Amino acid sequence: MSTESGAGVPRHGTGEWQALDHRHYLHPFTDHHDLGQRGVRVIECADGVYIYDSEGHRILDGMSGLWCVNLGYGRQDLVDAAAAQMRELPYYNSFFQTAHPPAIELSRVLGEVAPEGFDKVFYTGSGSEANDTVIKMVRRYWDLVEQPQRRVFISRRNAYHGSTVAAATLGGMAPMHDQLGPMVNFIEHIDQPYHFGLGAGMDPDEFGLRQARLLAEKIEETGPENVAAFIAEPVQGAGGVIIPPDSYWPEIQRICREFDVLLVADEVICGFGRLGEWFGSQRLGIEPDLMPFAKGVTSGYLPLGGVLVGQRVGAVLGQQGGEFAHGFTYSGHPAACAVALANIRALRDEGVIERVRDDVGPWFSERFATLADHPLVGQARSIGLVGAIELVRDKDSLARFDKDLGVGGRCRDACFAQGLVMRAVGDSMIVAPPLVMTREQVGELVDKAWRSLDITASSLG
Ligand code: PLP
Repeated sequence: MSTESGAGVPRHGTGEWQALDHRHYLHPFTDHHDLGQRGVRVIECADGVYIYDSEGHRILDGMSGLWCVNLGYGRQDLVDAAAAQMRELPYYNSFFQTAHPPAIELSRVLGEVAPEGFDKVFYTGSGSEANDTVIKMVRRYWDLVEQPQRRVFISRRNAYHGSTVAAATLGGMAPMHDQLGPMVNFIEHIDQPYHFGLGAGMDPDEFGLRQARLLAEKIEETGPENVAAFIAEPVQGAGGVIIPPDSYWPEIQRICREFDVLLVADEVICGFGRLGEWFGSQRLGIEPDLMPFAKGVTSGYLPLGGVLVGQRVGAVLGQQGGEFAHGFTYSGHPAACAVALANIRALRDEGVIERVRDDVGPWFSERFATLADHPLVGQARSIGLVGAIELVRDKDSLARFDKDLGVGGRCRDACFAQGLVMRAVGDSMIVAPPLVMTREQVGELVDKAWRSLDITASSLG
């Protein structure tokens, strides 16, 4: 075997990679003391819905990387698009009245797949940058329509909108806020529509209305004239796959209209087919003003994000004069745009999203729901190709385990040992597999999850 990979990276054994990693590499969202003890897991290659580690284990990637590899791994068409674009024009920007064909064409195509009226787009390199862009864009909008005092954003606790200072503040992840203290001072949070965790004993629709009305209360408290926008993921992802009751979004929409507050649907996870429609907003009947996106737009093959802009904001930003003083070196990177075009072409031509809606999604729902029969599971919920199971100590009372037992972490480790990636959010286990998964692979995912639950249960004695 050659001493280098095709990309010119040396080939080492697991131990050597782990030592080099520990010495040099600071990882995102990782406890380095713990990592030093356990050693990093090195993923060397991937194909379809499987990843392969440096020990040769084949692992079913139940998280599509980080919710992004919608088309699965090993797509030659995406690779070819990147290579061809890099040969032709590897980089140019779109600052100062320039542009290039892949970014212009992608903007046209995004306008075709997005809901009616979303015919403008601003590019970024990531979802975090997309949400920072949303903040500036919304401010610019309210300035231009002469309501500059509308500055406050309302978001939700336990939401994830990214890791830059502003996006992390928009998000409602307590550990991020606790570690860095108050970051940005114009963001308020309300509780999430998490029925299993917060609505015990309540009818789900009543609960959904109650949680939506927290928005109206927060707007009243802040002064409606000061509120710029409400931002939320259609289905909260990193917070634990929180699927809101049916009553929630229509009431949120009504409240935003009543108070003339802009509605931002963060489509970074839900966009590009995850819920069985191009955008999560379409699946849940939301009519947002802005839609930040990233991840699935390129199936993660190259970094790209952006903000899709609806008519209301687009008409003002696109028509009225003055510069929007904002942009990134890699806004609309040509190779990333070329990959996004190939990705969207494949999603369309291969009917991937329709398959999630009509075939593999309903099949996944049915099979995933059987996990609720396991003695350790209090609830199994899913929509499209994203789901969560809640681990409980007592199935009748739905009482949780003591946090110190780290039951979610045990289950995640058991999943890895069984050849399945599932993520733990506290004691909620979440999955979001590639959209190209077959029915048989859904069966494999559910079987492996069941066995991992058995192992977790026996580890608890
Ligand atoms: N918004 C949502 C809903 C996300 O899930 C994420 C990342 O997981 C982001 C924004 C941030 O995206 P990025 O990591 O590309 O900055």
